[in-house]
Amino acid sequence: MSSNFPAGQSPESPSITVLSGGMGGARFLQGLLHGLRSGLLPFAPDTTVNVVANTADDLWVHGLKVCPDLDTVMYTLGDGIDPERGWGRREETWSVKEELATYGVEPTWFGLGDRDIATHLVRTQMLEAGYSLSAVTEALCQRWRPDVRLLPMTDDRVETHVAIGDAEAPSGKRVVHFQEYWVKLRAEVPAEALVFVGLDQSAPAPGVVEAITSAALVIVPPSNPVVSVGTILGVPGIREALLDTAAPVVGLSPIVGSTHVRGMAEQMLTAIGVEVSAAGVAGHYGARTQGGVLDGWLVDDQDHEQVERIRAGGVACRAVPLMMTSPEATAAMAVAAVDLVR
Ligand code: GDP
Ligand code: CA
Repeated sequence: MSSNFPAGQSPESPSITVLSGGMGGARFLQGLLHGLRSGLLPFAPDTTVNVVANTADDLWVHGLKVCPDLDTVMYTLGDGIDPERGWGRREETWSVKEELATYGVEPTWFGLGDRDIATHLVRTQMLEAGYSLSAVTEALCQRWRPDVRLLPMTDDRVETHVAIGDAEAPSGKRVVHFQEYWVKLRAEVPAEALVFVGLDQSAPAPGVVEAITSAALVIVPPSNPVVSVGTILGVPGIREALLDTAAPVVGLSPIVGSTHVRGMAEQMLTAIGVEVSAAGVAGHYGARTQGGVLDGWLVDDQDHEQVERIRAGGVACRAVPLMMTSPEATAAMAVAAVDLVR
């Protein structure tokens, strides 16, 4: 089976569509593909998996267009990821970064490795030659063969910005790019508000709406509900596609106990006033029967006491182990997700 379809062209057989952020989404996809390709799921082993990836973390740095979530998915599934860091290339070297720091060029906090820079150079050159981000992503995937059809949520520029307190600023506030909040400030200061620049005016990339409406199953993986899945749902037309699709939509909680497993979902949920719990996120996404996006929601075993409350909100729910400790454990999560909404 071809590992990548041209943007906008749909495969004929049933497909599965996943709305993904970076690390959480990529790990889930690894397990889903493991389960699917080894016949553990009630789908043909060669079923196409479409991935609609968040692009609101994207940034321009040192003149290069960097797409962290697209690259995390592409490198993880293409076996090029650094497994310890969970982002960037394995066997990476940092000569360019060191040279830039010696010149005193900002930002010094955003680390681009030498191998990784090649990806950003290809992307930037193609964008500047007039290709869309979807076309560029497809070209990059010709090398990485991620075994999914990887689609950016939009070809338009969208950026998540975070308002933080700043005693020295006249307004007492300062707005930073999401990457600065996460990488430089390590999400250690409270996020007072989130601004999704350009999101309202963006359009789904070619193939995105169709990937949702023509899928046999849509999965919301344990990605950040605010700055990964939230931004995907914020692209005008995507939420509507989820309401329209005949496919069941099932999600897996990124909150276990009362916090995220890794990342900063807790800070982001707090910033938008959503309870930091599996049930809180389920309520935030909402039941599809009531205009939300979910038919089913898996919570971790340790949150089993929230199951009834989630069911009462109109969403099918079960508690199962939700720690993505290996592709096998993650495949079992995918099997449970399918089972819940079948
Ligand atoms: P990012 O773009 O790299 O931040 O990645 P995502 O948005 O795709 O995923 C981040 C989310 O994954 C975090 O909110 C974590 O809580 C969640 N996550 C990471 N590992 C696990 C895991 O093993 N189990 C569960 N349930 N969630 C996880
Ligand atoms: Ca991300």
